[in-house]
Amino acid sequence: MKYERIRKIVLEAIQQAVAQGLVHGTSGNIALRDDDEDVVAITPSGISYTHMTAEDIAIVDLNGKWLDGPYKPSSETPMHTAVLRARPDIKATVHTHAMFATIMAMGEDNELRPITPPQCEFTPVRIVPFTMPGSNDVAAKVAEAIGSDGRSVLIKNHGMFSCGKDMKAALAAATYTEEMAVTTFYAKLLGNYEPMPKEAEAAMKALIAADQAV
Ligand SMILES: [Zn+2]
Repeated sequence: MKYERIRKIVLEAIQQAVAQGLVHGTSGNIALRDDDEDVVAITPSGISYTHMTAEDIAIVDLNGKWLDGPYKPSSETPMHTAVLRARPDIKATVHTHAMFATIMAMGEDNELRPITPPQCEFTPVRIVPFTMPGSNDVAAKVAEAIGSDGRSVLIKNHGMFSCGKDMKAALAAATYTEEMAVTTFYAKLLGNYEPMPKEAEAAMKALIAADQAV
């Protein structure tokens, strides 16, 4: 099997996302760029993740052109490849319709703020206005919102998009973004919403960056 390593990592990642409840049915998709070649392994479109094998994972180029695999690549391939093209430091991307991220994406000024120190690695979480799923338009808007420093964005009336330097980092971004959305949702409901102060957030970001540079 060609590109066995990246196909296996994508398969394990989507199964982990399903187990964590970040992905329901076939709604989420995950991609990983190869270290040596300009190819991307991505979950296929509309296939159940439960019985999926590594061979079923699609291979595309950086423009989303289908190169290998028995099933069509995810309809959201443009979103993944747009970010991978724009950010050479990013290798893995995760798009899900996780429930609380989707709820928090609806407000006009709901940009998520960190509630706990580990969440500081993934802020700011900008909000992308609604655009048709699968379109080049939504792909461009997600890449623009992720920018040069973003790890996660919320997409209005749709879900979220996260990324990282490897699959572990991308899954962490997705997990903590959903955690931020859950904790923010309940805190606002209780009327005791109080995110971390901006200075503490900046200090935590510096600490995390220094730790990762070692
Ligand atoms: Zn979607």
